[in-house]
Amino acid sequence: MSSDALGPDGSVRLHRYLPLATSLYFAGSCPTCGRVVTVGVEAAIELMGSGEATIGEVSARLRCRPCGGRVDLAVCPDTRSVDTQKRDGPLPETMGLKVRE
Ligand SMILES: [Zn+2]
Repeated sequence: MSSDALGPDGSVRLHRYLPLATSLYFAGSCPTCGRVVTVGVEAAIELMGSGEATIGEVSARLRCRPCGGRVDLAVCPDTRSVDTQKRDGPLPETMGLKVRE
């Protein structure tokens, strides 16, 4: 990756994930209550208002609504087989922002 791929906080800029927007998503759990937050690439860019924002900046922005805990996001690839991905389409986690208890 070129240096342009990383933001000032050393994490990857969101637009770098756009070519993979249907095959990965970001996820993290609240350390306090255990709720799991998943965010699609496009939803994360929408949330930050720019693809130049980094995954670290999205993590800093996200708070668990019920308890205020900070959610650290990690990149989660779609691990299904190519055939399954073709048959079933993109994972729901790749679209929008969702919270699971
Ligand atoms: Zn929480």
